[in-house]
Amino acid sequence: MDHARSLAPIAGRNVRRPSRAKQVAGSRPDGVSKRSSAVTASDRVRIRSISWRLADYSASNGRDFPWRRTRDPFHLAVAEILLQKTRAECVAAPFESLVARHASPSSMMAAPLRDLQRHIRHLGLFRKRAAHLKNLAAAIASQGTDCLSEPDHAASLPGLGVYGANAVASFGFGRRVGIVDCNSRRVISRTFGVSPTNNARIRRLSDELAIAAPDPRACNFGLLDVGALHCKPKPLCVACPLAADCRYARATRASNRS
Ligand code: SF4
Repeated sequence: MDHARSLAPIAGRNVRRPSRAKQVAGSRPDGVSKRSSAVTASDRVRIRSISWRLADYSASNGRDFPWRRTRDPFHLAVAEILLQKTRAECVAAPFESLVARHASPSSMMAAPLRDLQRHIRHLGLFRKRAAHLKNLAAAIASQGTDCLSEPDHAASLPGLGVYGANAVASFGFGRRVGIVDCNSRRVISRTFGVSPTNNARIRRLSDELAIAAPDPRACNFGLLDVGALHCKPKPLCVACPLAADCRYARATRASNRS
């Protein structure tokens, strides 16, 4: 089943637009809305524009990492385990050495734990990560790499979690699913004026961005890159590719003018 198709309503169907009075009553002085996860017609316009900008940005300015040069689902799953709680720049060398030594699930499954630990020792949590890698490799060896194409199933595999499962489905299979980590949450929260703690709405919007994008893989890479390079805790809006569509940036410009 195509996960994206299970996300309803889509493209304006069944969308109830709140009255102006409700919009005002639901707003906060900082522009952050406490609305539900429903997607409005005006959201649709912003979703489409932002998803295209993100894909464009990724294509022309995206960061280059070794796991972005592959669509091998197993290698992408390995990368996601190494990237947990770790800066991407630190993961490149251990990732390359690990997948060069154990390119297939059967090879990694059969490797001694100590050998896996040796490749990733400098990342921290290496014993736990090595155990996850070995168990995940065993699961994929028995089920086949296509078991990673369905995010709900992949999230139940050892060590991957919801974020990792969605990332592999998006980057490996081109599935139209959103990815929500602390960086993408910050970007979506600010651009759409949504509270960062409104999980349902953030997840819904991240899925909608992937659905609307010309290339969901590029859109999600762009989301991660904007979060890492521009939309930091102290945002750098001036050069951000989303500034024209961003509620936070617009509110900042208005307050600077007054
Ligand atoms: S314009 Fe500013 S607040 Fe908006 S996404 Fe970009 S960096 Fe973040």
